[in-house]
Amino acid sequence: MSLIVQKFGGTSVADAEKIRAAARRALRAQQQGAQVVMVVSAMGHQTDILVDLAAQVCEDAPAREMDMLLSTGEQVSVALMAMAIHDLGGQAVSLTGAQMEIRTDSAHGKARIRSIGADRIRAHLDAGRIVIAAGFQGIDENLNITTLGRGGSDTTAVALAAVLGADMCEIYTDVDGVFTTDPRIEPAARKMDCVSHDEILELASLGAGVMHSRSIEFGKKFNVPIHVRNSGVFTDVPGTIIGPLSEAADRAVSGAALTKNEAQLTIAGVPDKPGVSLALLESLSAANLSVDMIVQSRGADGRANISFTVLDTELNAAKKAAREAAAAVGAREVRVGEPVSKVSVVGLGMASQPGVARRMFRALADAGINIHAISTSTIKVSCLVAREQGQEALRVVHREFELGKTPSSPATIEDSLAAAKEAKAADAEAVIARLQAMEELRIDGCEIDESQALLSLRSVPDTPGVAAQIFEAIAARDVMVDLIVQSIGEDGLTSVGITVPQKDAKAAADIVAEVAEKIGGEVSLDPGVAILSVTGVGVRSHTGVGTRIFRALSAAGINVEMIGTSEVRVSVVIGGEHGAKALAATEKAFADVIR
Ligand code: ADP
Ligand code: ASP
Ligand code: MG
Repeated sequence: MSLIVQKFGGTSVADAEKIRAAARRALRAQQQGAQVVMVVSAMGHQTDILVDLAAQVCEDAPAREMDMLLSTGEQVSVALMAMAIHDLGGQAVSLTGAQMEIRTDSAHGKARIRSIGADRIRAHLDAGRIVIAAGFQGIDENLNITTLGRGGSDTTAVALAAVLGADMCEIYTDVDGVFTTDPRIEPAARKMDCVSHDEILELASLGAGVMHSRSIEFGKKFNVPIHVRNSGVFTDVPGTIIGPLSEAADRAVSGAALTKNEAQLTIAGVPDKPGVSLALLESLSAANLSVDMIVQSRGADGRANISFTVLDTELNAAKKAAREAAAAVGAREVRVGEPVSKVSVVGLGMASQPGVARRMFRALADAGINIHAISTSTIKVSCLVAREQGQEALRVVHREFELGKTPSSPATIEDSLAAAKEAKAADAEAVIARLQAMEELRIDGCEIDESQALLSLRSVPDTPGVAAQIFEAIAARDVMVDLIVQSIGEDGLTSVGITVPQKDAKAAADIVAEVAEKIGGEVSLDPGVAILSVTGVGVRSHTGVGTRIFRALSAAGINVEMIGTSEVRVSVVIGGEHGAKALAATEKAFADVIR
């Protein structure tokens, strides 16, 4: 018998009529012969209302009580949904996180799932009931109620689909599927028929709020086919399949995203020696804060500045952690920058097609948008821009990469479903083994690339178009650029670091020197560096990955020059002579989690 999980988001259960419509949909699936688990969110904006209420009675609400409060929203929905099914003549049972034995760690507000007791759910299904699961909640080992983080019902749904071995996890929401970017910001955004796990993982963690990014970690780890679709349409109009296939593998960019609520922090005047970035990352990770766009730039006085971004909601906690770290390492001060937004483009095809970063920088420059910082990985380029220019920047890049146009030979929904099925069958036994470690970190491997050189341009004016000029000059000679980091500007100056293949290094340095003649700045070339990468699933949301790398390198006396992070990879640039030693140290540090 087939089993499907159907998840309904807040707007899809916002009122009585919508609850009844969702109930009918589940009953229809049951009548067609499937066992059905529904996962429901709190009605409409209920969670926001509760957050707001809490703020009215308490300035800094205890995290445990916050979770106690927020979990009530879903409890209302599951009970009403069970009643609606009963009224329509069906049989249903509503279950809270605790009743489903969804065990999590104790990180209130962003708890991770450790295990789910599937037997009770199976027994209900076998008795012919529709199981209605409260999304977004679990319990820790002391029976405290925990929540998984805003948008976390998606993660409940995909996790349940994983443990139950569901044939499909349907995510019902208020849009037709996953779009090339948020259709509310860019009306020209196009619905994709399918999108790969790696692409949507990046897009979701870079701001595409349509899916909770951790739900995709489950989808990828356990081969759960996910179908995102509109709850508002009556007929079975297909939405988007999230699976192994990308819709447009031939295109460099398949989607764009914007994070609205980020803040930048700079720790200035940091002594530039091994172990210092480590101390900083350790204190942020100890506070369970995920940081992004980490950039380290060397100042004239032998001291460095380390900048990074955090979510606005975590700014206070990050400031506190950063101040402690700054004091511990003897840094001068911690500064909070202007409000920023991060605009990103993502695509599997980027790895093989040069020029994406350059096109993005040029398009933004032509629109008069200054880039405050850049970070890249194999499948994404992210730029920080002033917050008031964020939405415009998103539209600019969407247009530049013609994302509104249908790809020339797109993969179809059928292709994607077939690929998902095949992946599931091929990996079935391994998946069962992996279920023991639901949301734990999984590392696929560590690699070293010793063929790179590091080219830096320091103290260039921080104005629109600087990055574009540099990259256009380099691209004109067909040099492939790998990691790019531009630091957050200070006193009107910024610096850009890029890695290029050693064989092209001299030529690239000459080109950048020509650019520097025109716009200012000092060029330096380190002809032999190594890029150490750690790949896996969820390496950014597991805040300890960066720390482990830094700890391993620091213990081996190796300094980190540059860092690039993405959802599936953390890369650091180190001196070329340290390659083998760094790889060995890092592999040892991850020995317990390499699969
Ligand atoms: P739900 O309550 O169903 O979980 P969400 O509000 O969490 O719904 O997610 C759906 C919303 O995500 C859409 O209304 C849309 O504005 C937004 N969104 C952001 N990026 C994208 C994207 N790339 N594709 C589709 N929707 C997106
Ligand atoms: N109700 C929770 C929220 O609004 C969880 C969810 O909807 O996914 O964040
Ligand atoms: Mg959601």
